[in-house]
Amino acid sequence: MRLLWRIYIYFFACALLALILTAGYANNSLRRFYQEQIAAELLTRANIFSSELGSHSMENEGDQIDRRCKEFGRLTQTRVTVIRPDGSVIGDSDQNPSALENHRNRPEIVEALNGQRGRSIRFSDTIRRTLMYLAIPVQREGAVVAVVRVSLPLSVIDWALHSVYRQVAVGVLLAAALFAVVAFFLARLISHPLDDMRQTADRLAQGDLRARAALPKSEEMALLARTLNQMAAELGERMETITRQNDQQKAVFASMVEGVLAVDSEGRILDLNATAARLLDLTPDQTRGRSIQETVRNLDLQKFVAATLEDGGPAETEIVLYGNEERFLQLHGTALADSTGKNMGALVVLNDITRLKRLETVRQDFVANVSHELKTPITALRGCVETLSDRSRQSPEDDERFMAMMARQVERLNSIVEDLLSLSRIEHDAQHKRIALESGPVFDVLRRAVQSFAKAAEAKHIAVALDCPDGLAAPINAPLLEQAVGNLIDNAVKYSGEGTHIAVSAALCGNDIEIRVSDEGPGIEKKHLSRIFERFYRVDQARSRALGGTGLGLAIVKHIVLTHHGAVSVESTPGQGSTFKILIPVSRL
Ligand code: ADP
Repeated sequence: MRLLWRIYIYFFACALLALILTAGYANNSLRRFYQEQIAAELLTRANIFSSELGSHSMENEGDQIDRRCKEFGRLTQTRVTVIRPDGSVIGDSDQNPSALENHRNRPEIVEALNGQRGRSIRFSDTIRRTLMYLAIPVQREGAVVAVVRVSLPLSVIDWALHSVYRQVAVGVLLAAALFAVVAFFLARLISHPLDDMRQTADRLAQGDLRARAALPKSEEMALLARTLNQMAAELGERMETITRQNDQQKAVFASMVEGVLAVDSEGRILDLNATAARLLDLTPDQTRGRSIQETVRNLDLQKFVAATLEDGGPAETEIVLYGNEERFLQLHGTALADSTGKNMGALVVLNDITRLKRLETVRQDFVANVSHELKTPITALRGCVETLSDRSRQSPEDDERFMAMMARQVERLNSIVEDLLSLSRIEHDAQHKRIALESGPVFDVLRRAVQSFAKAAEAKHIAVALDCPDGLAAPINAPLLEQAVGNLIDNAVKYSGEGTHIAVSAALCGNDIEIRVSDEGPGIEKKHLSRIFERFYRVDQARSRALGGTGLGLAIVKHIVLTHHGAVSVESTPGQGSTFKILIPVSRL
């Protein structure tokens, strides 16, 4: 039940009880007052009648006394009875005295016979009403000769009180109504601030931390409301701090490059960040609370987590994930402890080291390739040196032949080392942003490149055509671009047959300048196209070596083009020729 109604009922019940008690008390007092009045009235009448009896003899004038009684009774509307000391009735205003029984034992008569005033209230069987009896002694010469008793029905009091009751009832009803209203307002005065505070507490519980209770007028309530408001303010501040810290932690967690995976002591996933989810191909929301065994399908990772959970770490290992593509992960595992230092599980940090692994492989392959490339001319040189030092089988022609062979091998070694140096310089400069690009005419670059190989082309009767508009300019590093185009022309001359044509052209193509070097050489089979820009990749090892190729020419072209933020590609039809295309952006978008 609401506090308002509870307080109201108590207030109202108390007020009503007070009213009823007051009404009851008033009723009693009034009744007593009326009784005293009737008693006084009866005494007066008894005294009057007693004085009237003065002349009559109680012994002989019974009839007269009875008559007087009836007369007095009629006049005063009072029952009057005269009784002898022996209790027999001489006269009675209402009845025939002889029919009445002896009255000696009636309490009022007993008292009157003792010379005192007797009074009694009794229910009269004769007239079936409650009556008040008052008896006084009639004394002659000091002796009680008779008793005069007068009586009146008390119902007169009831009549008199009846109207009083009606007025009191109306008063009580009005007072009750007034109390009802007052009690309601009093109850509201107490319950309203409490209700307001309850509503505030409700809103706080629902998360509205800006809710505040109004300050009531009463001191205690105001103190309570102030405490509630203070509590809400502190709660709000704490929530704000917790939310801010939580957001910060989440942001850090989410933006970490490393994957983070937290598991409880049973091996169930507590949390994982976006990187871990991506690396392990999991959906964070679906995996939280599930065991690592059922979510992560990698035995090595499962074993690592189990081992970290068992010995508490720190532990480190490398694993391989076999998905769409092979991924190498480095794992760091440590025990996860709560703020009290209690062990909660384990934390695993995942580092994607695929790129590092690939670079390592590339480096290893490169070292192997370089060694292999260098080994061939060195072996040849060693052979020559050994042959030359064998004095027994030497002729001047052989000496010349071997010397020429040695010169070729040295030249070859030199080309390889030069190309390697060139490549590493370009890479190094590009890495340190030391390659300056300046807007310059493309035509000059192409012209110089063509000129560099004019002799070689002429020797093979190859015609080199250059087609480039004069005004074509782009941000370029002229010496490097010349080297790149030169390498392409070199290849075209090297691999094409005698009497063929080579076309070198440049044109503006959208935002790019497209430089094309086309030949009518043997062309390149499709399967090699994607790889010819790799270092030391050759379609035909022997042919390339015979032509003095190092296998690095196109790799240099690719790196130079990349420093120009461009792209290089090749189209080729075996037997018909190849076209190499370099795209260099005129402006960077
Ligand atoms: P190399 O020093 O062997 O020429 P490159 O890197 O310049 O090395 O070229 C790689 C390979 O691509 C060559 O060995 C050759 O087989 C092939 N190649 C390059 N240019 C041409 C071309 N214009 N016509 C046919 N094959 C070519």
